[in-house]
Amino acid sequence: MRIAFSEISLSGNSYEVHRFDSLVSQQDFSVKEPFSAHCTLKRKGDNKVEMQGRLQTRLSLTCDRCLGSYDVDVDTELLILFEMESTESWQVKELERTLSDLDSIILDEPVVDLDDVLRQQLYLSLPLKMLCSQQCKGLCAQCGINRNLAECNCANEHPLGSFAALAQLKKKVS
Ligand SMILES: [Zn+2]
Ligand SMILES: [Zn+2]
Repeated sequence: MRIAFSEISLSGNSYEVHRFDSLVSQQDFSVKEPFSAHCTLKRKGDNKVEMQGRLQTRLSLTCDRCLGSYDVDVDTELLILFEMESTESWQVKELERTLSDLDSIILDEPVVDLDDVLRQQLYLSLPLKMLCSQQCKGLCAQCGINRNLAECNCANEHPLGSFAALAQLKKKVS
């Protein structure tokens, strides 16, 4: 959904998004149902629009360690200031930015692309390290087995395994 600044009023316009087809298949995640985003866009002068809202959904991610897929819930507040690129000096902008804790997005045309903004927000909500659980044991480096689901007998991966091998050896010797 593309919303021109000229459609946005000073008192604010509300938008609800409950389907997100363009988001269903991303490289790093997929969006699961239900998807719900509601936001209010408010005109703040000729070249500025403020967005406030909330984004709730569930994402399916791939675990970095075991490559299994797992779900995370996303529930994030949206607070973004859209500004048209202007001739103001960057210094002034930097100052404004430190004074407010709004995320600021500089646009080159006076249009808010809602799908694009929501997609960006989903990317921002992704964890740096994607793990299905903190205790995820990952894949065995030798045989590739998913160590959360099964155990293997690769010696290097299991200290207990090498103890057993040693015990066998002793038996043979004696
Ligand atoms: Zn995992
Ligand atoms: Zn193994």
